[in-house]
Amino acid sequence: MIAGPTPALSLDVPTLAFVSIALAGLLGVFLVISWVQDRNVPSLAWWGSAYLIGASSVALWLAPAPRFHIPPEVPEAMTLLACGVVWSGIRLFHGRTLKPLVAFAGAIAWPVLCDLPGVAEGSDARMGLGAALVAAYTFVIAFELWRERRKSLFSRTAAIVVPSLHAAIFLMPLAMQAFMPDQVAAQWLTVFALETMIYAVGTAFIMMLMVKDHHVYVYRRAATTDHLTGLPNRRAFLQDATTLCALQARKGQPVTLMMFDLDHFKSINDRFGHATGDEALKVFAQVLGTSMRASDIMGRLGGEEFAAIVAGNMETTARIAERIRAGFEAAGFMIGGHVLGGTVSIGAATATEPVVDIDALLNRADEALYEAKRGGRNRICAAPDVAHAPAALSDAARRRAPAARQTAPAPSL
Ligand code: GH3
Ligand code: MG
Ligand code: MG
Repeated sequence: MIAGPTPALSLDVPTLAFVSIALAGLLGVFLVISWVQDRNVPSLAWWGSAYLIGASSVALWLAPAPRFHIPPEVPEAMTLLACGVVWSGIRLFHGRTLKPLVAFAGAIAWPVLCDLPGVAEGSDARMGLGAALVAAYTFVIAFELWRERRKSLFSRTAAIVVPSLHAAIFLMPLAMQAFMPDQVAAQWLTVFALETMIYAVGTAFIMMLMVKDHHVYVYRRAATTDHLTGLPNRRAFLQDATTLCALQARKGQPVTLMMFDLDHFKSINDRFGHATGDEALKVFAQVLGTSMRASDIMGRLGGEEFAAIVAGNMETTARIAERIRAGFEAAGFMIGGHVLGGTVSIGAATATEPVVDIDALLNRADEALYEAKRGGRNRICAAPDVAHAPAALSDAARRRAPAARQTAPAPSL
C-alpha cells in the first residue's frame, strides 16, 4: 500500500467556533450539575451560568441573519455579562460581598457605548472596545485570584498567569489591526479562537480544583477543630505542639506546656444547666485566645480541660498563666446572667531538653495541675525540673540554654 502525502491540518474559524459553543455549553451544564450535587458551593452555579451565557452569546453572534431579529448588541453584552458572572462567582467563593453594579457595568454600559459615533456594528472601534473590556474583566479575575491568600493545592501562580495571558491574547487583535496586514490578522483569529477554547476548558478545570481545595480545607478544619470553642482539638493541638517542640529543640531553646482544668465544673453544670456550662467553656476559650500570642499553640483536650504550649521558659509562661487565671476569674464570675464564680487551675511543665515524648511533658503538667487542685484551686503550679541527660542535648542547645537548665522553678507560683 502506498501512503499519500499527509493532508495539512486546517482549522477554520466557524468549526472552532462551533466546537467552542458545544464545549462551553457542556462545561456550563457540568458546573451546574456539580452545584446541584453540592449546594454548599453556590459559586459553581454562577460559573455554570457564566459558561451557558457565554455559549449562548457566541451562538447568537454567529447565527445567520436575521439572527431572530436580535440586535448585535445583545450577544456582545451577554459576553460581558458572562465575564461579570465569573468574577462574582470568584468573589462569592472567597467569602467576599457581591458587587452587582460593578460586575454587570460592562453589560449595562455596552448598548449605550454602541450608540456613540464611530462604534457602529463591525467597526474596528467596536471590536477594539469589546476586546479591551473583556481583557479588563480577565485582569480583574486574575487580581481576585491573586488576593486569595489561603494556600491552594494548585499553583496560585498558574491561576493568575493563565487569565492574564488570556487577557493579553484578547488585546492582541487590537495591536494587530494597527500594525499587521489583514492576512496575518485573519490567521491570528484562528489562534485566538483556539486559545479561547483552551482557556474555557482550563478555567473550568481550575474552578473544579478550587472547589476540591475548598472541600479539603473544610474537612481538614472540621477534623482538627473543637466544634464548641473553635479551638484546635486534642489531635491538632498535639500535632502543633510536637512541631513547636521540634523547632525549639533545633534552636536549643525550652518549651513550656500548660494544662488548664476549670474548677468545680460539674457543679456549674448541676446548678445552672449544661448550656451555661457550655457558655463557660466558650468564655474560657476566649480568655485563652486573648491572653496569648497568635504564634502560641492552644487547644481543648476534652471536657473542661485545655492546654497550651509556649516557646519559652517557666518565668515567661508563669506571667501568661497568671494572665489567663486572672482573666477567667474576672470573665467567669458572671456568665449568662448567673453568678458562676468560675475559676481555673493551671499546671505547667518546662522542657529544656529536646522533647521526644510529648505525653511525658503532658503528664508532668498534669501532675502539677493536680497539685494546684490539691492546693485549693484557682492557682498555678509548676512541675519540678526533671533530671537531664546531657548526652541528649546538642552542643548548640548546651551553649544556648544553660540558664534554663539550671533554673528549678518553684513548685507553686
Ligand atoms: P475539679 O475542680 O476537681 O476539676 O472538679 P470538676 O467538677 O471540674 O471535675 P469533674 O471531672 O468532676 O467534672 C467535669 C465535668 O465536665 C463533668 C462533665 O459533665 C462536664 N463536661 C465535660 N464536657 C462538657 C461539655 O462539653 N459541656 C459541658 N457543659 N459540660 C461538660
Ligand atoms: Mg477535669
Ligand atoms: Mg474540672
